Amino acid sequence: MLCPRCEQGCILKAKVKAINVHFLICDECESFWFNVKDIGINNFYDYGSYMEEKNCCQYGMS
Ligand SMILES: [Zn+2]
Repeated sequence: MLCPRCEQGCILKAKVKAINVHFLICDECESFWFNVKDIGINNFYDYGSYMEEKNCCQYGMS
């Protein structure tokens, strides 16, 4: 799936190991979403600031 935000990256399924939460992330711009149906240009989360907020720094592809 192509990222709607940067139109270059692929949307990948990933998981935050520390908090066991699945999400979808763009491998190019690191926008992310929690549900496939939520993927859109206006409602993405920024990976860096989200992880800072949650105090996590790693995710793994699943
Ligand atoms: Zn992107």
